[in-house]
Amino acid sequence: MPKLKTHFEAGMSACLKNLMGCLVGQENKKKTHKSLAANILNINKAVKPHLHIVDAIFSMEGLGPTRGTPLKTGAVFVGTNPYLVDLMCAKFASFDYRKVRTLAEAELRGTIDGSYHDFVRNYNLGGIFHFKPPKAGIIASFIHSPKRQKYFLAIRNTPLFNYLCSTKAGGKLLYMTGLRQDVFIEEDAECVSLSIDLEKCTNCGKCVEYCPIGLDLPGALSDAENKDSKCIQCLYCLCVCPESAIKFCGKLGFMEEQLKQYDEIIKRTA
Ligand code: SF4
Ligand code: SF4
Repeated sequence: MPKLKTHFEAGMSACLKNLMGCLVGQENKKKTHKSLAANILNINKAVKPHLHIVDAIFSMEGLGPTRGTPLKTGAVFVGTNPYLVDLMCAKFASFDYRKVRTLAEAELRGTIDGSYHDFVRNYNLGGIFHFKPPKAGIIASFIHSPKRQKYFLAIRNTPLFNYLCSTKAGGKLLYMTGLRQDVFIEEDAECVSLSIDLEKCTNCGKCVEYCPIGLDLPGALSDAENKDSKCIQCLYCLCVCPESAIKFCGKLGFMEEQLKQYDEIIKRTA
């Protein structure tokens, strides 16, 4: 299920782009990038889910897909026509659909016509948001401009470049220049236990609100090793606790970088 996001390369990401997830293997994904919008539409021609659902309960504005800012938008979009759902999402985000590469391409192909726009224009969404656009830094914007992107993609698909990107230093350099939005850490998180610092806990109830299996928090964490707990270690409580009263014991792995990037934002938005 896609999350509604502004997206640096695609403009916006919702139903249409989501079907890239049907591609198997990184090689196929890389090939898609050679002509992103056209290939995404081709996938949508071949793969036709009965129902499209976009999760816009929390969306992302700004530099998506991963360096943007979460936004509480409280909506879910459901439909059988991905073009209409994406147009509706663009309206919801006050995002010019012509800047969404897939929608612009679909209009060029004649898949989207005036009847689509009439439907979306006349549909009362009840309320809309004004998403910040995905504005990247100077280097990423220069390289990813439509004129130059094909040269970058040619380099990106070479074995040497792929090797350099897979090294720690190469990954960090790409992250710093904005060409890559994440620092990828392959190490899994391993949670031994979660515990509660009762002196810090204010009983605000946030952890209970977000625990997906409805544990009686924070009390359920007072047993230091969580021996009797049914906790599935999703770590939602850890992330949303505004007082940092929940303590993690174990190895954070890839979560370390995620928390560095998002901890403050999650706490502010939750
Ligand atoms: S979210 Fe944190 S402060 Fe709030 S009740 Fe849970 S442990 Fe306590
Ligand atoms: S880690 Fe997840 S399942 Fe476990 S107590 Fe926290 S929110 Fe609930």
